[in-house]
Amino acid sequence: MLTDYHLHLRPDEPDTPPERYFTAENVARYREAADAAGVEELGVSEHVYRFTQALDLWRHPFWEEQARDDLDAYCEFVRGEGLKLGVECDFVPGAEDRTANLLGPRPFDYVVGSVHFIGEQAVDHEGWDVWEGQGDADEVWRRYFEALAECARSGLFEILAHPDLVKVWGRSRPLPERDPRHFYEPAVEAIAESGIAVELSTAGLRKPVGELYPSPGFAEMCVEAGAPFALSSDAHLPEQVGFGYDRALEFLGELGVEEIAVFENRERRLEPLPAAVGEAR
Ligand SMILES: [Zn+2]
Ligand SMILES: [Zn+2]
Repeated sequence: MLTDYHLHLRPDEPDTPPERYFTAENVARYREAADAAGVEELGVSEHVYRFTQALDLWRHPFWEEQARDDLDAYCEFVRGEGLKLGVECDFVPGAEDRTANLLGPRPFDYVVGSVHFIGEQAVDHEGWDVWEGQGDADEVWRRYFEALAECARSGLFEILAHPDLVKVWGRSRPLPERDPRHFYEPAVEAIAESGIAVELSTAGLRKPVGELYPSPGFAEMCVEAGAPFALSSDAHLPEQVGFGYDRALEFLGELGVEEIAVFENRERRLEPLPAAVGEAR
C-alpha cells in the first residue's frame, strides 16, 4: 500500500480561506492526483497554527497572524469527505498538557508532530529565519535535533514530520562542521524509545536542499533502531500528491524497508509496500 498522509489542501500563503480550499471540488483534485500516483490512502494534516484553538498552545506573532480557522469545522469537513483525518502539530515545549487537551478529544486518525521553530525563530521560514545573525551551524543543528528528540519523546504524535528539516536551505545556509550523525544521535534514541513512526517525506526534493527527508545516514540509524516509516509528500497543491514516490520507494528498498505505517483512530498497523520500484506510478 502507498499512503500520502501529510497533505495540505492549500498553499501556506495569506488569503487562503477555508471556503475556497476545503471544498469537495478541491478534494476531488487531490484524489485524482492520488489515483494517478497509485496512492491508496489519502489523509489531510493542516497546520495546527491555522486554527484559533492553537493560540492556547503558543502566542508567537506568526501564529497570532495565522490563526483564523476553526479546528472542529476542519475535522468535520475532512471526515465528511472520507479522507483520513490528521493535523500537523508543532511541538511547543512547555505546552505538552495543553497540546494533549487540544488533540485528545478530537477524532484524528493520526497527528503529525513537527519542529519548525527553535526558540522564537524557524529553520524553514524566511520571515523568522533562525540563520539571521546566527552563524553557528553546529549550534543550530544541535538545538534543532534536541527539539526533535523532545517532540518524539512527548508521546503526543504518531508521525515525526520531515525529520531533518533543518537542512531545507541546502548550501544557501551554513552547514555544520561535525559529522551530522553526531546530531542525529539524540533524536534516534528518542525515536527508538517512543516508538513514533518516522516520516519519509518527498517534500525536500522540491526545496533548495533537493533531497528526501530524512537523509540516508539518518534513515539508516532509524532502521537500525527499529523505527517504522510513514510515507508522505507534504503536498500543498494537488499536483504534488505522491510527488517523487519512485525515488522514495527506491530509497526505502535500499534500506531494506518493506512495510509502511498505516493509521486509523491513532492506532498504527504495518502494510507491505509495493514490491518493485515503478509500480507506484
Ligand atoms: Zn512542516
Ligand atoms: Zn506540512
